[in-house]
Amino acid sequence: MSVPTAAVDRSVCAPLPVLGRDVRVPLVTGGEVDYAALDYAASAPALQRVWDDVAAYAPYYGSVHRGAGYLSQLSTDLFENSRTAVAEFLGCREGDQVVFTRSTTDSLNLLAAVLPADCQVFVFETEHHASLLPWRGADVTYLDAPRTPQQAVGILERALAGRGTSPSGSTVPALVCVTGASNVTGEHWPVRELAAAAHAHGARVVLDAAQLAPHHPVDIADLDVDWVAFSGHKLYAPFGSGVLAGRSDWLQEAEPYLAGGGASRQVTRRADGGVDVEWHTTAARHEAGSPNVIGVYSIAAACRALTDAGFDSLVEREQSLVTKVLDGLGEVDAVKVLSLFGDDVPRVGVISFVVDGWNSSHFAAALSAEYGIGVRDGLFCAHPLVRTLLGGDPQDQGECGAPDGEPGERSLNAIRVSFGAGTPDEHVERFVTAVKELVRDGARWNYRTENGRCVPAV
Ligand code: PLP
Repeated sequence: MSVPTAAVDRSVCAPLPVLGRDVRVPLVTGGEVDYAALDYAASAPALQRVWDDVAAYAPYYGSVHRGAGYLSQLSTDLFENSRTAVAEFLGCREGDQVVFTRSTTDSLNLLAAVLPADCQVFVFETEHHASLLPWRGADVTYLDAPRTPQQAVGILERALAGRGTSPSGSTVPALVCVTGASNVTGEHWPVRELAAAAHAHGARVVLDAAQLAPHHPVDIADLDVDWVAFSGHKLYAPFGSGVLAGRSDWLQEAEPYLAGGGASRQVTRRADGGVDVEWHTTAARHEAGSPNVIGVYSIAAACRALTDAGFDSLVEREQSLVTKVLDGLGEVDAVKVLSLFGDDVPRVGVISFVVDGWNSSHFAAALSAEYGIGVRDGLFCAHPLVRTLLGGDPQDQGECGAPDGEPGERSLNAIRVSFGAGTPDEHVERFVTAVKELVRDGARWNYRTENGRCVPAV
């Protein structure tokens, strides 16, 4: 996977309009500024176009699948067309299914629930907890953190080569779970190479695209992965839906993830008083209950909006912002940008760093209170990875206001800045200026700890 890093003619692509772009926030030092939302990796703002599409549909909202009325039929059409739009966005293959879930976490837990008997799971310890934890009921192997993309492939190949066989002598099924882009470092993972290695050993692959899909086209056939999972709220569609797309066999051979209406085709009472169920064999099998029509429709709207805007030029523009942030942070000696793979591996607009002599929570609080910039501090639901990158104990959060180490010493948690298709240049420029000023001059306000977080002492 390659990401263009060339200089960009800004006229090529402006930021896409997003909700909240005009929101003003107060500064502790007086006055107010436009809020700079630089926490896209957690949740991205809704694209204006997604909001407009949802608003245009809302009066026509109706129950899907079971209603006889006009609006129910219209909503059912939109719901099923959304499935097709997502399948196209992901380049799904013939026979792939798109299952609508609540989020990436939900999608990966669904896949964990349909693993065939004796399935072995392989996952790098560097994953987000949503990718790390759902497999704990299975035979899971946690792979050590690689320090290069090539090492990642080598580690996986060695693990798969030592894979077990069933009592009958056949190789047991296996699943490899890999992230497309890290939610801590933003670095791309060698998905295509890992998928090739997995397939060469008869294993399947699920791609956690929570951080990749909002920043870069994902093509399931081209990457040759078996499943892709992502969340609407990170893809500019924050209405509570997610996606698991890919091969249908494991999904259709397993019991439904949730039992209930919508998943069942027919339910009959048995002579012995029990109940027999015939489950659907389509995606509906795992979508029991009344579906989140607005959430699903908003994801399809986001897919259309990104495609229509020209995803490649969005990538190109985002890369110019990545360069701006990395160059700016690189000019500050006290700042250390976190990286697993080193400078040669491309990143999406997700960058974590620590500042010598600063508690990360204190630094993030000052960015917010004094500059109107919203970033995130902490361990980003990837404790083993952050522990590897910082070499510290993530349980120990440090005290607000008291630097968690002398210059040169390790920090206990990190600061993450993340951005995307709706981010104006001014937001990242303000961020870089703020980092430089805070490091040079210190905070202009006093802060205190409240419920484990730093807040302005007002
Ligand atoms: N995977 C990655 C890489 C993530 O960054 C996240 C969320 O930050 C998730 C999975 C979980 O996503 P969600 O909270 O939408 O389920």
